[in-house]
Order: sequence, then structure tokens, then C-alpha cells
Amino acid sequence: MGKNHEFIDINSIGRIDYKDLRRSLLQENKLLPSEHPCCKGKGNCCERNIPVSEKDVQIISGAIQRGDIPRSVIAQAKERAATSKQNRCPFLNPRNECSIYPYRPIVCIEARAGGTAHPKQLEATVQQYAETGTDPGIPVCNTRTSHMCAECHQQMADAGMKFSSRGVRNHYALIAYLSNNPSIPMPEVVAKLPLPKRRK
Ligand code: SF4
Repeated sequence: MGKNHEFIDINSIGRIDYKDLRRSLLQENKLLPSEHPCCKGKGNCCERNIPVSEKDVQIISGAIQRGDIPRSVIAQAKERAATSKQNRCPFLNPRNECSIYPYRPIVCIEARAGGTAHPKQLEATVQQYAETGTDPGIPVCNTRTSHMCAECHQQMADAGMKFSSRGVRNHYALIAYLSNNPSIPMPEVVAKLPLPKRRK
């Protein structure tokens, strides 16, 4: 079986399973030589009401029930959701890092949003792409076509970066999934999440 079996078959778009899509997006992220350079610690991609599907909510809720997301993270997110006047995800912490990173929604995985800041420069990442790319890829164009923020998208376009063909297939699978399944903005999700009991 070819290498492509791990990725979304474009013909299956429309009946894509959430788990398959999430796994494929995470695999795509791992294949990249470095994570998206300009979102790291900037939080721009998290400064908007991202669409959160029911399955995304189940992932977050499950992590809360297991105690994998601390009570304090939920309490702080609820406070931000109630008081923030900005279009900013309540899970973005003051260091501009995602406080639920392993459990973030599929839109965030695709945009590679919410990671921890690191000192690598954009040029180094572009060089890595150039050295390891066997996939000719699709140039990031000036017209925004991804779920990342406009600034990140423009930086990638200006730097001559490319989306892999697989990444583009995943992107359209994600659009299809969100079109076929209801989603709600993250602040509404946070407002509805139960606050875990304090541990004794
Ligand atoms: S869940 Fe995390 S990665 Fe997604 S928008 Fe919120 S802070 Fe950013």
C-alpha cells in the first residue's frame, strides 16, 4: 500500500470521519520540518472566534473529566470569555500560548495555532522546507485560503512557502467537515463547559 493511505482520500470528502480527519491533520503537522513559524507565541491565529465542532467539544470535555486539563485553566478561560472585549480565544494564555494545546480543535491543528514560542527564525524554517520537500507543493498565494490568520498567511506567501498537496487535501476535508457538521464559537463553548470540582 502506498504512503498516501495515511491521508484523506479527496473522494471521501463529505463523509469524512472526525477521528480520521484529526489524525490526518496531526500526521501532516508531524511531517513538517518545523511548526508554523509566525504563529509561535504570537497568538494572531487565536484572535478570532474559531468554529468548534461537537466532536472538538467532546475531546475537550473528556480531557476535563479525566483531569488532564487543570481546573485553573477552565476557570481562567471562563473569566476571559466573560470579560474579554477582544475577539480572542479564551484558552490563549497571557504568554500567547494555547492552554489546551493537545486537545485543541481541528481548525487550530490545521492552522498550527497556539504553540509555544521558540527562537527559530522564519528563514531557517523556509530552508528546511526547501531541503526536505519531495512534494512540489502549492505556493501560498496572496489570497487567503487557509484557516490561519491573515498576517500569518501573508508572511508565508511573502516567504515563498508552500502548502503540501496533502495539506491542501486536508484543508478541503476540514472545510467539508465543518460545512456538514454544526459548530459554535469558542467563547460559547467555554461558557458552557462545567467547572471541575476542586481536588481535595
Ligand atoms: S484552542 Fe488554543 S490553538 Fe485554538 S484558538 Fe484557542 S488558544 Fe488558539
